[in-house]
Amino acid sequence: MKRRISVLTTNPSLGILTYSLPEGKAVAAGQLVSIPLGPRQILGMLWEEDVSNQIKIADNRLRPVSKIYDLPEASHCYRKFIQWVSSYYMAPLGAVLRMGIPFLPATIESREIKNYYVPKREWPKLTSLRQQALEKLSGEKGSVRELAEKAEVSPAVIRALIKTGLITEQKTSLEIALSLPNPDFNAPILSETQSKAAEILKESIAKKSFETFLLDGVTGSGKTEVYFEAIAQTLRDGKQSLILLPEIALTEPFLKRFQARFGCEPVVWHSDLSQARRRKNWQAIVTGQAKVVIGARSALFLPFKAIGLIIVDEAHETSFKQEDGVCYQARDVAVMRAKFENISVILATATPAIESVMQVRLGNYKEIRLAERHGSAGLPTIHVINMTEQALAKGRWLAPPLVKALTNAVERHEQGLLFLNRRGYAPLTLCRHCGHRIKCPHCTAWMVEHRQLGQMICHHCGFTMPVPDKCPECQTADSLVACGPGVERIAEETALLFPEARIETITSDTLATPKQAAEFVEKMDQGAIDIIIGTQLITKGYHFPRLTVVGVVDADIGLQGGDLRASEHSFQQIAQVAGRAGRSALDGHVFIQTYEPETPVISALASGDREAFYQTELEIREITEAPPFGRYVALIISSEKQEIAEAVGHQLGQRKPEGDGIEVFGPAPAPLLQLRGRYRYRFLIQAKRNIPIQRIIHQWLSKISIPSSVRITIDVDPYSF
Ligand code: ADP
Ligand code: ZN
Repeated sequence: MKRRISVLTTNPSLGILTYSLPEGKAVAAGQLVSIPLGPRQILGMLWEEDVSNQIKIADNRLRPVSKIYDLPEASHCYRKFIQWVSSYYMAPLGAVLRMGIPFLPATIESREIKNYYVPKREWPKLTSLRQQALEKLSGEKGSVRELAEKAEVSPAVIRALIKTGLITEQKTSLEIALSLPNPDFNAPILSETQSKAAEILKESIAKKSFETFLLDGVTGSGKTEVYFEAIAQTLRDGKQSLILLPEIALTEPFLKRFQARFGCEPVVWHSDLSQARRRKNWQAIVTGQAKVVIGARSALFLPFKAIGLIIVDEAHETSFKQEDGVCYQARDVAVMRAKFENISVILATATPAIESVMQVRLGNYKEIRLAERHGSAGLPTIHVINMTEQALAKGRWLAPPLVKALTNAVERHEQGLLFLNRRGYAPLTLCRHCGHRIKCPHCTAWMVEHRQLGQMICHHCGFTMPVPDKCPECQTADSLVACGPGVERIAEETALLFPEARIETITSDTLATPKQAAEFVEKMDQGAIDIIIGTQLITKGYHFPRLTVVGVVDADIGLQGGDLRASEHSFQQIAQVAGRAGRSALDGHVFIQTYEPETPVISALASGDREAFYQTELEIREITEAPPFGRYVALIISSEKQEIAEAVGHQLGQRKPEGDGIEVFGPAPAPLLQLRGRYRYRFLIQAKRNIPIQRIIHQWLSKISIPSSVRITIDVDPYSF
């Protein structure tokens, strides 16, 4: 009998399959393989080396593995980790593996993409197309496709030139192309507090065991410099480091900073990379040549050759929560990956998540504090503006004390920032005549006017339509009015108040690419911008020395809606945006506009008493058995047909699990009943932490048969509901 092996495919609906092994092949679990499935070739990971005892199918009914990739095999820890993610977040194993191995076999093989070089020289007479191509490409290198794109000719022209020998193959292997970060390239002189913090981290790394650190330091305290020392240590040990950043648009300035410290750029991993770049970087990570990787949350699932350290920067960020496909919290997954790998993990933030604070109190995480800003910078002064006492004209949103501070700042050639977490011109457009509100046809949401684009956009599904000139309902002309402000409207008001000022609006519309982010940072550094109007994108990690005045246009926005973490997130966001002010020798001032100055969020911000806020918040969570004390799971049933989604909800509702320490709410229409054309009903399961909630939900779902048109999304530890 031939030996049987099991293979986990990266196809979520296939899962683990059995194959036979060709005679005389040596294999190890964790190797990447290609297997035949019908006429197709499927990618997978050799999951178990020998399942011959379990699988007794006749030899001739099993197909052999077709290819074993010549790459280092993923470790036992890695496979255990994938298994844990799959069972904790209730996602198919294959869907989890696919996040780490996102390519088809064909694309992995094409790592042997050849590079060509076009020498600088005089060219013989050629057809004009070829001649032009050579002239344009003189001194360039790249793959056939890249060269064709650069020369604006078809790949056939390039191939023809290769045949004639005028373009030559360049045998740079990836190893040579990749430069290595140098731990001692340009180490800063650390302050005493910073050195102490760095020492603690370095000691932990030397121990080569699992430990979680909460690197909790005020904005501008030099957390980055401190964790760079931990990376330097990991580099000296010959191990790989992974840094997770919340926003891709932010990576550009970060890469420059990394380069200044370590002498070369790190390897990046996110979905906006070109396919060719992704493949190269993946290969470098898997073979261990990439020593430091900067990634989006999905980088956590990569099969690193020898990972030695994980850092989650701005660890409180809500964008670490993945809400599509496999729903997971990257901060928690990072800690689990470190646990399986037996390495250190650092969560760096100025405003820790409540869960992290709790873990410190329980003694599970070690806290490192950096209480002061680096150098001469002090913390900004906070001014709360009670908007109930401000008589503002209609269509005006900026109160006089804030306007005055901005005026002074601009006069002194300093910079100002107005923060409002709302893209577009106005969040709602309504008809003055009949009261009709313009709604997205695919979602339970209002269409948001984006005046600069001349369009209405749904922020949930991206549906767009031109701004109508009459009411779509009653057909009255010129009756539509914008309600409430978005950033564009604040920019309009600012332009009226400061006709001379150079104003820049920063949202995901205007700052979508790393290049745009780099240009923006450069303009700020050169003093070419006086006032920024921005959404939450502007609260992240930026360091602008001349930015002295920050205005929070509406501090109450985040507290609306039924989000369990509304207070926490609102606090974090305002504290982060406040942290952009006064990061150098110049004093910073933050103006918080609110109609409710007495809420715990605002009073904690005003008094600077963060601990009081965390204490109150933890007490509320404990009483309500909310996370981190209890656990929630959201179950969303969706279908294009409302009746079907409702019926499945009803059937499940009749078979709800019951028992001590578990309570199931629902089915109820989800907060967005309609999303991207699908109708959604939701259950919310609340359970004590010691309840095997995943198993209970699996059993529950297996009690009914679910029509194929219905999608069930399970969100363990959900964010919003
Ligand atoms: P955080 O990550 O805590 O917000 P950063 O690491 O970005 O803080 O540091 C804030 C600023 O202070 C940065 O411009 C950084 O380069 C500078 N800085 C921090 N520590 C040092 C140091 N030891 N020597 C020189 N500059 C430092
Ligand atoms: Zn929509």
